[in-house]
Amino acid sequence: METRLIVLKDYKRTGVLSDADKTELRAAAQILKNGGLAAFPTETVYGLGGDALRKEAARKIYAAKGRPSDNPLIVHISNMDQLYPLIDSMPEAARKMADRFWPGPLTMVFRKSDAVPAETTGGLDTVAVRFPVHPVARALIEYSGTVIAAPSANLSGRPSTTNAEHCIEDLTGRVEAIVDGGSCDIGLESTILDVSTGEPVLLRPGAVTLEMIRETLGADIGEDAAIKGPLEEGERPKAPGMKYRHYAPKAQMVLVTERHGGSISGAVAELLEKHLREKKKCALLCSEECIAELKLSRPLILEGVTVKSSGSRNDKSEMAHVLFERLREMDAEDIEFIAAEGCSEEQLGKALMNRMQKASAWQILYV
Ligand code: AMP
Ligand code: MG
Repeated sequence: METRLIVLKDYKRTGVLSDADKTELRAAAQILKNGGLAAFPTETVYGLGGDALRKEAARKIYAAKGRPSDNPLIVHISNMDQLYPLIDSMPEAARKMADRFWPGPLTMVFRKSDAVPAETTGGLDTVAVRFPVHPVARALIEYSGTVIAAPSANLSGRPSTTNAEHCIEDLTGRVEAIVDGGSCDIGLESTILDVSTGEPVLLRPGAVTLEMIRETLGADIGEDAAIKGPLEEGERPKAPGMKYRHYAPKAQMVLVTERHGGSISGAVAELLEKHLREKKKCALLCSEECIAELKLSRPLILEGVTVKSSGSRNDKSEMAHVLFERLREMDAEDIEFIAAEGCSEEQLGKALMNRMQKASAWQILYV
């Protein structure tokens, strides 16, 4: 299959869709209308889109990603009127959350209507819906005249894609089009909140944080067991995707997190020294603060390893923005061992740590 690259030149420069960009986007929308697939930017990560109401399109998405077909897709809408035909009822909690966070990086799981094919929901009687705020995503959905099923636009087992280059790497020859609208602001997948039962449950942390949800709903919100750690044999995850091995870098990764007032830079230096002695190709993924400390205390270590900055320790948004990109770079450089700095789990830190814990297969060193 030939993959057409659709570059939104003016949008990338100005952040506003020009008439020329809109013409390009209409071509991508036509592909979706015809049952084809197009990758496109959203504020979280790139999505691999297809018509959510056509089962053949859903099947194509699974095939293009190499994703098991019981791992459900998120359905993207571009206005609230598109929501109601997809769902069985609108719970009060969902109404409050939608009022405050839609359009935005929040997905909610509802009981589904008959309009949504089982192929799209991985056979479940619930449907996950998101109303993105990104102007490209919204225009594309609107022009397609339908609702768009879109999992992250990566090959199964790889990090989510946060720019068009990542999509080109993973999906060339597998989709009809890739829409290049620059890099995604947030860089982590959406928050998923299950509102299909009486009590809302957080299935995946994201940029709409648990603190924000609690404040909005005025209640203590439960969290799916899969967020807390690896599932025990026989335990059933609520978020079906969670049962699959998530992205893990080629390298062994250890996540170093401050919990007892210890030194992150000291701990990563020790880990790196050990693996350097074993002649491994090592990388350090950490904050500018950690790099600055090592420059003073262990400059030789910094020379022997690949150093990837995740920005300032105090700027979790920047850490989130670059995480998947840095992980992809380290895979491309055939790194064998990664020492990575974690962060506190407040606010956005919860989503960040969730992705890093998975990438490290829960190899965490608390200092
Ligand atoms: P992504 O890979 O970002 O497309 O995320 C898709 C994930 O959304 C799946 O792996 C599930 O964890 C979650 N999801 C989608 N639909 C549902 C649903 N009906 N019920 C629960 N979780 C869902
Ligand atoms: Mg994904």
